Amino acid sequence: MPRLYFDANATAPPHPEAVEAVRRAMLEDWANPTSTHREGQRARYLIEEARREIAAALGVAPGELVFCASATEALHLLIRGLQPALGHRPAAVFPGEHSACLNPLKDWSRVAWLPEVPPACATVVQMPANNETGILYPMPPVLDALRIKDCAQAWGKVPVDLSDSDAAVFSGHKMGGPRGAALLWMRPGLPWEAVMEGPQERRRRGGTEDLPAILGLAVAVRHLAERQVMNAGLAPLRDAFEAEITSWNRAIEVIGQGLPRLPNTSCILFRGKNGEALHAALDLAGFAVSTGSACHSGSVKPSHAIATLGYTLEDARSVLRFSLLPDAQPGEVEALAAALKRLV
Ligand code: PLP
Repeated sequence: MPRLYFDANATAPPHPEAVEAVRRAMLEDWANPTSTHREGQRARYLIEEARREIAAALGVAPGELVFCASATEALHLLIRGLQPALGHRPAAVFPGEHSACLNPLKDWSRVAWLPEVPPACATVVQMPANNETGILYPMPPVLDALRIKDCAQAWGKVPVDLSDSDAAVFSGHKMGGPRGAALLWMRPGLPWEAVMEGPQERRRRGGTEDLPAILGLAVAVRHLAERQVMNAGLAPLRDAFEAEITSWNRAIEVIGQGLPRLPNTSCILFRGKNGEALHAALDLAGFAVSTGSACHSGSVKPSHAIATLGYTLEDARSVLRFSLLPDAQPGEVEALAAALKRLV
């Protein structure tokens, strides 16, 4: 049997047309977009076309988008760039936020966990969708705080609304784009300063732009609406999978069940079982799944996203995350359930 991949929230395969766009750009449009000769000018033109197309899809102005290499980088540039002006005041974030957001906040005077919004709070960081549980979170109603959205997981899976935000980050490799392409969006006028200096990206992010990855991202964005529809169609499949595995009476619990969740994500607690061992056994059986965020796997520390939902650390070690690709088929999910039944 071919291997089956249930780890879309870590990375999804790039759309074939995005792969082709990357390949062509690497063969034909490899010139430096900062160069002033004709080849460089063409590279610059292609980048600006891609920026226009992506900005239109997001409903923002092209000049507000900065191309980055990853959402992690975008979050670092954003949060570290706000720190000189705002870092003496507290920030408020969801306890389950990704380390890509928590790490650059380390130099701030204080990080409070939402729903607490401390007095004089400078910024609130919302993740519309949690990478591990898939739970969807609304932007808290805050006044006078800068609102940041980490859309790495939401993009391409559920609609993303920027009207309640001042800045946001997006990742390409989770929505059918290539790795190496991500976005930082900032409303004009934020008290932000560049931390990676250089002439590129209007002096907001130094470093030669990765033209092939950017063109691949633009192509993936062209397919975003269709991807979102496919993802929405996964909910019945995911629900049937959860109904099947919780019917076995084996202390199996769906984390976040009943809450608004990403339609492709199933975060399951196999109480009393070792998540790492289950993960390894499934891998041997031909199934790629995750013990939590890809960034946590390999770490002995259980995920804080799970622990902060009120589960014990022991429980957090017994969790597996199954995240379906947009084209997942019922037979594949049934095969996964059958393999799990033999293991738990
Ligand atoms: N934010 C969230 C919610 C994520 O899930 C991830 C990746 O898992 C990131 C940020 C980091 O994204 P990237 O891999 O593009 O650095």
